[in-house]
Formats: sequence, C-alpha cells, structure tokens
Amino acid sequence: MLHSLFRLVRLVLGGAAPAKATSSASGSAPSPVPDAALEALLREEFDRCRYFKPEARERVIRSWIKGESLIRSGAKLSPEQKKALGLNPRMLITQGMVDVLSSEGLKLSDPKTAFSEPAIGARLRLSRIETVQKSLKYGAREFKWRAANDGDDCAWCKKNTGKTFGRDILEQVARQCTCEPHCRGFIEPLFDDLR
Ligand SMILES: [Zn+2]
Repeated sequence: MLHSLFRLVRLVLGGAAPAKATSSASGSAPSPVPDAALEALLREEFDRCRYFKPEARERVIRSWIKGESLIRSGAKLSPEQKKALGLNPRMLITQGMVDVLSSEGLKLSDPKTAFSEPAIGARLRLSRIETVQKSLKYGAREFKWRAANDGDDCAWCKKNTGKTFGRDILEQVARQCTCEPHCRGFIEPLFDDLR
C-alpha cells in the first residue's frame, strides 16, 4: 500500500519538482527514506494544508493511496450551483471536490491544484531530508537556508534565507516555516574544504 503511495507521489509530481539532490544519473535509485517516512511527511503536509476540510483529509489520503481521483468523482456542478457557492461558474467543479475542499481550497483560481499541493510539499521535504542525510555523510556540519525568494515566502523564511544552521536545520524549518501551501526553500550544505 505504501509502495503505491510512493509511486503515486512520484506520478503526481512528475518532473515538476526540483531535481532530487541525491538522484543518480539513471534517476532510478531507490530513495533511502522508507515509504513510512514519506507517508508521514504527506500526512503532515495535509495537516498544514488549509485547502481541505479537516474531517475529509483521511478520505483524500486514502483515495490517493488507492489511486482514485476525487476530482472526477460525483456529478459536475451546474453554473447555478457554482454561483450559489461563490465559485467561478466556468470552472469545472465536481461534487467530489466540494465534499473535501475547504472554502479556501474552493476559492483557488483552479481548485484542482489543491490536490497536488500536499504531495509537492512532501516531495520537497523529502528532497531536503535527503540533502542533509547525504551531506552529513560527506562531512558537512553546517547548512545554509535558501528561501524560494519569490515574494511568497513566510516571515521566517524571509528572515532566515542565507543564514547558517547546524544539523537541526530540518527541525527548525519544520517548526517555524509557515509558508503556504508548502515550503519551497532548499538547503545548501557547507563543506569545510570548499570555504
Ligand atoms: Zn517558510
């Protein structure tokens, strides 16, 4: 089951996410992070993502694991129904989406995108974890935080971009970054012999 989730996350993200810091040339190397860890990351990303009704999160996660699309489930809303909900009447919205998306999720310029955000967030976090794990192995002891720097960063990311952290950088980011819908920063390892 977790394996299919892992494949699904890869499928959902395709080539959209930044290249993995630890990718092999073939791109087929297995991740050193167990599937359970990826599922835990995905659940945490769902917990912080405000695009879904809290009571529907488990259902969305389960449908992903099964490979079912909630975007296509249920009848399409009529233009009148969409207007009544304050939604763009020209946007494709199904009852399946209305059942699980919060008002914030439905207000997105394209509510379909809500369904990929937690997976993208989990994948980016996995990439940061792999960067730290691998560079610790090669002797890095300090790391620089690099925010996305495109104007959508949270206050913590803005304040800390370019700052140097110890090996607890992942915990610090997880605890303090409030970027929405997910953090897009990356970690730059610092190696003594390159300074
Ligand atoms: Zn942030």
